[in-house]
Amino acid sequence: MASSTKFIFITGGVTSSLGKGIIAASLAKLLQARGFSTTIQKFDPYLNIDPGTLNPYEHGECYVTEDGAETDLDLGHYERFLDTTTSQANNVTTGRIYNNVITKERKGEYLGKTVQVIPHITDEIKRNFFKLGEEGKYDVVITEIGGCVGDIESLPFIEAVRQAKWDLGQNNFLVIHLTLIPFLAAAKELKTKPTQHSVKQLLEAGIQPDILVCRTEHHLPQDVKKKLALFCNVQLNCVIEAMDAETIYDVPLLMKKEKLDERVMSKLKLTSKTNTDLEQWKDFLGRLKNPTQEVNIGLVGKYVSLPDAYKSIIEAFVHAGAASECKVNLKLISSEELHAEAIPKKLEELDGVIVAPGFGERGLEGKIEAVKYVRENNIPFFGICLGMQVAVIEYARNVLGLPEANSTEMNPNSPDPVIGLMEDQKNVQQMGGTMRLGSYPCELKKGSKAYQAYGKPKINERHRHRYEFNNAYLKAFEEKGMSPSGINPETGLVEIMEVKNHPWFLGAQFHPEYKSTVLTPHPLFVRFIKATIENKKTK
Ligand code: GLN
Repeated sequence: MASSTKFIFITGGVTSSLGKGIIAASLAKLLQARGFSTTIQKFDPYLNIDPGTLNPYEHGECYVTEDGAETDLDLGHYERFLDTTTSQANNVTTGRIYNNVITKERKGEYLGKTVQVIPHITDEIKRNFFKLGEEGKYDVVITEIGGCVGDIESLPFIEAVRQAKWDLGQNNFLVIHLTLIPFLAAAKELKTKPTQHSVKQLLEAGIQPDILVCRTEHHLPQDVKKKLALFCNVQLNCVIEAMDAETIYDVPLLMKKEKLDERVMSKLKLTSKTNTDLEQWKDFLGRLKNPTQEVNIGLVGKYVSLPDAYKSIIEAFVHAGAASECKVNLKLISSEELHAEAIPKKLEELDGVIVAPGFGERGLEGKIEAVKYVRENNIPFFGICLGMQVAVIEYARNVLGLPEANSTEMNPNSPDPVIGLMEDQKNVQQMGGTMRLGSYPCELKKGSKAYQAYGKPKINERHRHRYEFNNAYLKAFEEKGMSPSGINPETGLVEIMEVKNHPWFLGAQFHPEYKSTVLTPHPLFVRFIKATIENKKTK
């Protein structure tokens, strides 16, 4: 491989959910602050081609990139931390690897050879490992290997990491192993054995980790670090403590304190190009941790039992809240529990309501009731994707006087299909990767709330939907006070609807939450929070 790009691989052991994505994003942030252009990619060991078809209850949100890839939610963390965009190349699954290999095999590209896990699958994995590095844009590519060391399904990835070392050569390759040091309360002891075992498993696969990052609830005393270094065959200063943090946004600073970036740079023979002090990041943390006001916002959706299903929305509120030094108490409300009688009790304490994206009929009526309540009671409202569509249905039923108005997703026989399937979706047969995905332009109407928020006439936002506002009803809506403030200039598709004579009532067909980052909070979230702060003052 002729490239000066350095490659860092992050594996995980002992348990899942240790926060490999956050460690990867934090390290990338520190390297970025030292002037290295850095990207992060995630390799997931499951057989789905992408997470687009996965149930959010099981796997959390599906994150969408500018180029329209449906990806793992960790890519959202990468973008939020680094303030740079990712693409399809940043998320590869076992399913995609096998799909590529089998497609090549059918084309006869293997020239009669027996196609095997080694070398054909591992070669395809490595080709994808190196792809972003070959663009010549990055000094460092960090690769997060999903799952846990020892899982059967991640074996080909681990084997590909072992081989990559020899392709990349010395000083270009580094493995960081993230592990857990449990604390046994009864014995009052931190235990290193699970880590020893998981490193042994890596060694069996031919990989010697260079750095151990140890998740722990208590500080690691020097003797525990020494023991880990001795048994796991790493340098003492490469045993890095990763204490539980108050917020994920503390982790870059904690890792800097532990000198993770310095260890990485010394092993990869990198010298800082600059060394910024993460001033803006600290500034954000200062505002996040010292709020001068607070608001209560309800997030209405059907996947509330797993908050990860709304990861980007939740984080967008963290960024936008900090921008106004405002603590946002986000209350997740199940739309299935929202019956007309229960609504005032559930919603009256709230300063604002957001209706979440989603699919299918379940919980729809509860969402409609919620929108009716906030519209009639002048409570700020923000609808995202399905949330916008619900607002349109509610307005049609209760203001336009069309009691059976609906989306054809929920009722294909509705006499008033105010939301309908997009033309180019009508012949779609397959489910995976076939929605309207990724970034599209939108033009904003002067004087609208959306225009005020963005402060410019043209924007680009990311999408993930099959249904759209039915323009046959546009005039009727405008006459009754709900009008489009954002339109796709090429197709005429309605992107934003707003209600006049309301403090803040806005629905967006796109997903603004995907573009909110720590250093660039999203203008619509910022404005929505400002509206909730104003609303609170009037109470
Ligand atoms: N189910 C709706 C559609 O497909 C909304 C999708 C969403 O909220 N992401 O258009």
